[in-house]
Amino acid sequence: MARYDCLSCGACCQNTPENQSEGFAHYIEVDPAAPSWRRPDLVRKLVVRDDEGAAHLRLHPDGRCVALRGRIGARVRCEIYRERPMPCRSVEAGSDLCQRYRRSRGLRV
Ligand code: SF4
Ligand code: SF4
Repeated sequence: MARYDCLSCGACCQNTPENQSEGFAHYIEVDPAAPSWRRPDLVRKLVVRDDEGAAHLRLHPDGRCVALRGRIGARVRCEIYRERPMPCRSVEAGSDLCQRYRRSRGLRV
């Protein structure tokens, strides 16, 4: 399995072009066990609710997570790495899903 350095990637931290073109404005769900719920400051800054009330990470207009710093495909950092929700933790570098995200951003797979 190919391995990638997440700190020079960040492809999975932006809503995919496919999702966006299908009108899905929300991307990563904030699961009930996410450590970020213990930080009211982070909840205020990072969490938005969809029409059904489900919690998601707030995105910039281009679909990029607001907690992501740096440039995708160059150097990135997650501002809430220790508090990030489960979906962020579950993407394994080098997995099929990871490679799909990288492809969607035009990065080498
Ligand atoms: S797409 Fe893969 S390599 Fe890139 S940040 Fe996500 S898990 Fe890491
Ligand atoms: S919380 Fe961190 S790991 Fe999750 S999408 Fe945002 S920047 Fe990426």
